[in-house]
Amino acid sequence: APAVRARLGVLDVLDRVDSTQAELLRRGRAQQDASVLLADAQTAGRGRRGRAWVSPPDSNLYLSMFRRVSGGVRAQAGLSLALGIAAAEAVRARGPTSGDAAAVRVKWPNDLVADGRKLGGLLVETTGEGDGVVAGLGLNLRMPDSARHDIDQAWIDLAGLGIDVSRAALAAAVIEAWFDAFDQFARDGLAAFRARWERLDALRDAPVRIVGAHGERQGIARGIADSGALQVEIGGAVETVFSGDVSLRRA
Ligand code: ATP
Repeated sequence: APAVRARLGVLDVLDRVDSTQAELLRRGRAQQDASVLLADAQTAGRGRRGRAWVSPPDSNLYLSMFRRVSGGVRAQAGLSLALGIAAAEAVRARGPTSGDAAAVRVKWPNDLVADGRKLGGLLVETTGEGDGVVAGLGLNLRMPDSARHDIDQAWIDLAGLGIDVSRAALAAAVIEAWFDAFDQFARDGLAAFRARWERLDALRDAPVRIVGAHGERQGIARGIADSGALQVEIGGAVETVFSGDVSLRRA
C-alpha cells in the first residue's frame, strides 16, 4: 500500500533466518529506521525468556520491525500491548469473527488468541544501544501438518478460524497498523489505547492464574494500568502484576 511504502525503511524478505528478531538485533541501530524483516521460515524462532516459537516454512507470518523510540527501554511493557492491539485489529479487519467466541483478542502481556487458543505472539526488545527497539510478531496463518504436534499448548491458525488472507496482504496491514501504533504510543502512551484494549482484552474480569518461577496465585483480571502492568484482584484488593516473570492462564 502507498501509505506503507512512504514510511518503510529497508524491507527484507528471507527464505529462512534463525530468528527475525535476532537478525534485526544484530544489525543494531546502524540500520535505517522502520526497517522490516520478513522470513518464510525461522530455524530458531523464539518467544519470551528463550522459549521456542514453532516457525515452519510456507505459510505463517514471521515479521520484525526496527524503530528508534525515544526513551526506548522504559516504554517496553506498554509498547508490546499497543502493537498487539494494532496487530489484532489488522487481523480482525480481514475476518468474519467480530463479537463471537472465536474473535481475535489480545492476551496480556504478549499473545494474540482466539477461541482460548494461541494464534500469535509478540516480542518487543531493545538493541541495547539506547533508542533502538525491535518488535516482532509470529502469527499462524496455516500450520503445516508437519508442525501441528510441535506446539506444547492449545493453538489455532487463521485457517482454523475461517480467515483466508494472503501472507503479503496481512504483512502489509500489520506494518501499516504498527506505524500508526508506534506514532500514537510515542505521542500519548498506552493511555491512548485504553478503549481499544478493553474491546480486545481476552481475559477481562475472568478468573486467572498467575504462574511465576516461585509459584502460582489466583485472582480476577481487572484490566491494565497505563504502564502496561496487569491489574489483578486478589482477595478483595487490586494488585499490579508486571510481565517480566509470569505467564497468565485462565483459572
Ligand atoms: P505463555 O504465552 O505460555 O504464557 P510466554 O508468553 O512466555 O508464555 P511466548 O514467548 O509468547 O510464551 O511464546 C512461546 C510459547 O508459545 C511456547 O512455549 C509454546 O507453548 C507456544 N508456541 C510456540 N510456537 C507457537 C506457535 N507457532 N503458535 C502458537 N503457540 C506457539
